[in-house]
Amino acid sequence: MKRIPLLLATAALGVLPLHAENFICAHGHVHAAPAAGPGSGIRRYAPDRRADLLHLIIDVTPDFKQRSIAAQATLTFKPIGQPMDELRLNGVDLQVSSVVSSAKLKGYQSTADEVVLTFDKPLLPGVEQKVTIVYTATPGEGLYFRTPEQGYKEGETHLYSQGETVFARHWFPVLDSPNEKLTTEVVCHVPDGMTVFANGKLLSQEKNASTGLTAFRWKQEKPHSAYLVSLVAGQFAVVEDKYKELPLAFIVPPGDAALAKKSLDGTKEMLAFFEKELGYPYAWEKYYQIVVRDFQWGGMENTSVTTLTDRTLHTAEYETLRSSISLVAHELAHQWFGDVVTCKDWSTLWLNEGFATYYDALFQEHFYGREHFLYERWQVARGLTGTQNPRPIVYRKTAADALDQFSNLSYQKGSWVLHMLRSDLGPDLYRQVIQTYLKRYQFQPVVTENLLSVFEETTGKSFDQFFDQWLYHGGHPELAVDYAWDEKTGLARVGIRQTQKITDEILQFRVPVTVRFKGDFGTVDKVFQLDDLAQDFHVALPSAPKIVRVDPEIALLAKVEFNPSRALFDAQLADTADHMGRVLAVEKIAKDKQADAVKRIAGLLKTDKQWFVRAEVAKALRQIGTDEALTALRAATDQPDARARRAVFDAIGSFTQPAALETLIAALPKEKNPDIRDTIVRSLPRHPKPETRAELLRQLESKSFREHLFDAGVAGLRAADDASLIKPLHEAILKREKDLEGRSLGQALSALGFLARNETDKTPVRDLLLKHASNPRDPVARGAITGLGELVDLRVRPVLAGLAVAAPNETRRKAAEAAIKALDQGVKAPEAVTGLRGEVLELQKSNKDLKAEMETLKKRFDAMATRPAPADAKKKK
Ligand SMILES: [Zn+2]
Repeated sequence: MKRIPLLLATAALGVLPLHAENFICAHGHVHAAPAAGPGSGIRRYAPDRRADLLHLIIDVTPDFKQRSIAAQATLTFKPIGQPMDELRLNGVDLQVSSVVSSAKLKGYQSTADEVVLTFDKPLLPGVEQKVTIVYTATPGEGLYFRTPEQGYKEGETHLYSQGETVFARHWFPVLDSPNEKLTTEVVCHVPDGMTVFANGKLLSQEKNASTGLTAFRWKQEKPHSAYLVSLVAGQFAVVEDKYKELPLAFIVPPGDAALAKKSLDGTKEMLAFFEKELGYPYAWEKYYQIVVRDFQWGGMENTSVTTLTDRTLHTAEYETLRSSISLVAHELAHQWFGDVVTCKDWSTLWLNEGFATYYDALFQEHFYGREHFLYERWQVARGLTGTQNPRPIVYRKTAADALDQFSNLSYQKGSWVLHMLRSDLGPDLYRQVIQTYLKRYQFQPVVTENLLSVFEETTGKSFDQFFDQWLYHGGHPELAVDYAWDEKTGLARVGIRQTQKITDEILQFRVPVTVRFKGDFGTVDKVFQLDDLAQDFHVALPSAPKIVRVDPEIALLAKVEFNPSRALFDAQLADTADHMGRVLAVEKIAKDKQADAVKRIAGLLKTDKQWFVRAEVAKALRQIGTDEALTALRAATDQPDARARRAVFDAIGSFTQPAALETLIAALPKEKNPDIRDTIVRSLPRHPKPETRAELLRQLESKSFREHLFDAGVAGLRAADDASLIKPLHEAILKREKDLEGRSLGQALSALGFLARNETDKTPVRDLLLKHASNPRDPVARGAITGLGELVDLRVRPVLAGLAVAAPNETRRKAAEAAIKALDQGVKAPEAVTGLRGEVLELQKSNKDLKAEMETLKKRFDAMATRPAPADAKKKK
């Protein structure tokens, strides 16, 4: 599963725009995914499997008007190990009307979260049984309707399921845990004009003359886990294709038919790459990718039938700034990692997500080349090493739904663990390990130790310490590296110290550190095994190296502090063969802010062959921030690669000089790329002037692909934070609330709440937000609820409190909880100021009292000092 990015396009990753765990801020900067939350404090484990579930047939008739289902689930199973008198299945709010069983039933109950069948006599272990449960449900989670009654377009009605992590149980009864694997069959009855997709193979498609409904029957022949069961039904356009004999399809809402092919290209090449790289053929009967509206995630790897967000579809005018390759590769890699081998419980989710993330990166290495791959690994590493996170990758104290595991630890850090193993063993030996692992554990749940044992068996090396420090403990090494050359002995000395704070959670690391020396003698790589907190290493070289690079192949997850001399850095900057070397030199020069920094790097913005070096130079000039830096940026806006061009405009957008605004305003009518126009529009609020305000408001009227520019305008208005913008935004919302997509309308509503937070009369805004808080489209309701929190109006608190408990799904409940928090903080802020003012007054008052008292004391003292000593005092002496 992939997170949905806040904004699709990225600045620096460019062709990795859906590398969804990188969140993108309003200015297109890549931020690391949020670190995993604190969890729950409760250790969680896989549940018991009292019975082996063998096969499940889910027969569903959806009611698109009522957004409910009438269904029956037929389950075959065998008790495991001992007699069983009760079958307990997960099932949330399923209204069970009858149960038929092969063994005599004593009774059944359906509670808020379970369906419990009690048998007359205990069932014998190993003996197959069958039950059929007939029920209805109106799922708030797990199965989502998209209908015209909710504000979606006519002719695009559909529904889709989303099971991961614990949401399958909202629409069918099952042991809803990844440690149970079974074969499944989904039958769905739909009216004319609709089609149905599910896991596996289409067995039949039959119209029932009396109901007028057509039943599609799909069967998944190999076992998988309940969270991977998929049902998608409705009105779709289908583009079919083939990879060898494997049927492929891109399935999209009819309105997006023209975008499907371009946006989802590359699937065949990925299949060929993964089959070869993994030495394990694609396991399932077909591979379909289905795009749905307002999907909660970027993508979901349902077995043989992936679901994707419609936000991955894009047009050619985005140039290199958008691509679905990362998303498509990630979900396709899951068809092996997650679907063939499945994490036993959510504590070890990295066995799904770390692998999918890494094999996406490996495909990109194959597709775009090694340099691109190193840049990607470096960016991911930089995101991970920004702060020390003591939480380990393998973690049991998760929230009940374990959604907190879907963080940069399972994904990016997990991918980095694999990257270090592959860098250490080399691609061939590493590949052997992964092949053996897949073959040995196919169609089974796996734990981290299964992988560890295959690594040890295949390589002969011990991996206990590696797994202990990287998977069962948190953090990463912070290394301070120093270097010196001794001309007399011809020895290069490299000193390495581990400076991270060592705790019970973050260990002293044992890692290999590669250092590369380049000089007249050529290139020499040395691997230093760092076993201690501080170590010195010596290397004999024929002459003094001209360049010294630490971890040149980006093979170690560490924060490295290395400050070689200016001469070494300038040589690195001039090394046209080493792109990452130039990136690091540029970054360092910007950080040091020496007087000639702009002079040293600005030339690369025009001449460097590598787009990401130019993009990094633009970022560096932004950081330097001088007039000279701005001049260099303004002279380099004609970047042919959109990724570098956007980085330049993004950098110019951070300057407040009038010349910066001049360049931005002049570029707007000429720039065709919507992502770059977006970047420019979002930077306008830095220049609060009538013309920038007019430009922002113009975006509210604009028509663009997926309302991209409307969104940019709204973001700009929010950043401008000016009360005079409330009225035009309010009017624009009223005018366009019917035609805007849910996400755009939601963001506009929340911005409106924010802008109106200091108004004396909040009534009109409050009324509009309250109206949309119950909008049937989740993204609209979520935006309105968020806006109610930002409005800071105590009158809506009871409404929000009600929604936090009783909203129909988790999205809305979580939005309401967050809104209450924002509201309370907003209310408290003025209170806190009042409180502080009180304290200051108190202090001033007591200060005055003290001063008065001092005065009195002083006067008394003076009086005493001038008074003649009493006669009796003399006597006592
Ligand atoms: Zn994933």
